[in-house]
Amino acid sequence: MDCIFCKIVDGQIPAKIIYQDNDYLAFLDISPVSQGHSLVIPKKHTVDFSSLTGAEAGALATTVLKVAKGIAQALGAAAYNLGLNNGQSAGQIVPHVHWHIIPRYPGDDLHLWPADAAESQRLDET
Ligand code: 5GP
Ligand code: ZN
Repeated sequence: MDCIFCKIVDGQIPAKIIYQDNDYLAFLDISPVSQGHSLVIPKKHTVDFSSLTGAEAGALATTVLKVAKGIAQALGAAAYNLGLNNGQSAGQIVPHVHWHIIPRYPGDDLHLWPADAAESQRLDET
């Protein structure tokens, strides 16, 4: 399987693993946008969010919640953004479904949503 995240699951390439159980794995993003930026994946190769069953999506979300709370406690970052890119046009680069957990810090001035400008313009017009 030529999938970078499957290779992380199999231990063929290294990653800073922060949580795992039988079915899920969480590790630090190699190119973090904030301190503690992590990814949560199912160990079973699944291309994207749309390919999950409802039960699988729910179980993955439960794991995301657990990991996010752990990160929040470990790093003192009670605030965080969750992100998921479903499909190439949505910015999904790695074709193995993953949630991003992006811890946020007071005044970090991180702008994740480029649509902000368009949205504030729309609000100005109303
Ligand atoms: P996407 O754009 O697919 O939602 O995000 C893929 C994420 O995976 C990116 O944030 C990228 O930095 C991360 N990533 C890509 N390759 C690796 C890798 O080999 N190791 C780790 N830890 N993260 C990776
Ligand atoms: Zn995979």
